Amino acid sequence: MHELPKLHTGLYIDGHWVPASDRGTFKVSDPATGKVLAEVADGGIAEARAAADAAAAALPKWSAVPARERAEILRKVHGLMMERLETLARIITLENGKPLSDSRAEVRYAAEFFRWYSEEACRNLGSLSHAPAGGYRIMVQHQPIGVVVLVTPWNFPAAMGTRKIAPALAAGCTALVKPASATPLTMLALAELLEEAGVPAGVVNIVPSSRSSPLVDHWLHDPRIRLLSFTGSTEVGRTLIKAAADQVLKTPMELGGNAPFLVLDDADVAAAVDGAMIAKMRNMGEACTAANRFYAGAGVYDAFVEAFAERMRAQKIGHGLDEGTQVGSLVDEATRDKVDELVQDAVGRGARLVCGGSRVPGPGYFYEPTVLADVPLDSRLLAEEIFGPVAPIVKADSAERMLELANATEYGLVAYVYSGDLARGLKLAEGLEFGMVAVNRGLVSDPAAPFGGMKQSGLGREGSYEGMQEYMETKYIAVDW
Ligand code: NAD
Repeated sequence: MHELPKLHTGLYIDGHWVPASDRGTFKVSDPATGKVLAEVADGGIAEARAAADAAAAALPKWSAVPARERAEILRKVHGLMMERLETLARIITLENGKPLSDSRAEVRYAAEFFRWYSEEACRNLGSLSHAPAGGYRIMVQHQPIGVVVLVTPWNFPAAMGTRKIAPALAAGCTALVKPASATPLTMLALAELLEEAGVPAGVVNIVPSSRSSPLVDHWLHDPRIRLLSFTGSTEVGRTLIKAAADQVLKTPMELGGNAPFLVLDDADVAAAVDGAMIAKMRNMGEACTAANRFYAGAGVYDAFVEAFAERMRAQKIGHGLDEGTQVGSLVDEATRDKVDELVQDAVGRGARLVCGGSRVPGPGYFYEPTVLADVPLDSRLLAEEIFGPVAPIVKADSAERMLELANATEYGLVAYVYSGDLARGLKLAEGLEFGMVAVNRGLVSDPAAPFGGMKQSGLGREGSYEGMQEYMETKYIAVDW
């Protein structure tokens, strides 16, 4: 009933499916049942080297393919992903735990990066101008940066990969991809589609591994590599930036978040609750964009807490593949334990438990949708990434106080604001120290928009035209003319 669709479980290097040279494998399990889904080839240093050889060899030819031809291949990948949407969604749910409806939404979002960058590939504009002093011309071109390393997390196994692969290929780069060891299957399924769409051998190489640190470190010290794009925790990102410094690599980083969700006194409470459900519960809260802490004005506080809790109580918990499931299993035991630890910490400090607050017994790592009100400001819930279906709410007596509380974090990825007065909402948005702000919306992710964070939430942007710039070098040629 919860069978995995047929797929390759080898390493995808230079257009071939190969085992690890030491024949090593690691297990991938369904977090909702604990059942082993597959044994995946476990890449090591020898495979890292082979993948880098393949990517380096493929680079001159791929970067010379006319942009229009590269664009057509990317467009085909989009089409194939949409055609195989159900199969891909099923794989995501099985290895990650999220409900099928979330997985379908992820596949659409993930595929859209290929469509967006198929269009963007042809808009690699340069310039030619007269030097102001006269006597020569200033010519500016953008060239692919070279071989790139792409390291992705487990929470969006398709989208976090395509958000990097599509712009890298559009720019003319070749890639080494290391998916998260908890969820490598989606990326392996994607490799089959890339091949089918006509991506040449060696252009994208996929190396799952249970030994991320030495493998990625090997790449970061290979002189043929020019960029590391990483999505994951701030802690690991910081370590990788340091390692990447040895070769002065470009390091776009999409790291952790601690998103505030502000409900002003003049907000439409029903709309704010709709937005809160999306911002909190998409992916069961396992998202860097997840609303992590809620601040509501005194005038709407009680109504917001009650209406939000009512929706949270009504959420259907179950296996992600089961009909009607809204809340699936968290990815592993450690993630669930951390969620519970943060909830107990807040309760211990005096927070009021409005609903939820417990692990769900039985197999899998389910946690009840939880609302906590009157959460003390020193609670860990307000300072750390929760990564679970838990909403801590704090009463704030003015918009200025909300802004102050919202900005008091080392993270700066995304913030949400609800206000009945658009000008007030926008003014607040301008003062929020976050790379993205949603005004009267619970979702920001869009391939056409620059996604990324300020402060310790990251470096650079993914999506939009900016996302492709990361994969290019700007070259200036002075021409005596
Ligand atoms: P993680 O940092 O543990 O792992 C991310 C990736 O890095 C995985 O592929 C992992 O195998 C690899 N990795 C781990 N340690 C490594 C090391 N020492 N050297 C090289 N590679 C290493 O993160 P995660 O638990 O997979 O994902 C959750 C985190 O990702 C959260 O903090 C979340 O906020 C963040 N995230 C950020 C964004 C964003 O766009 N800003 C998007 C999704 C997730």
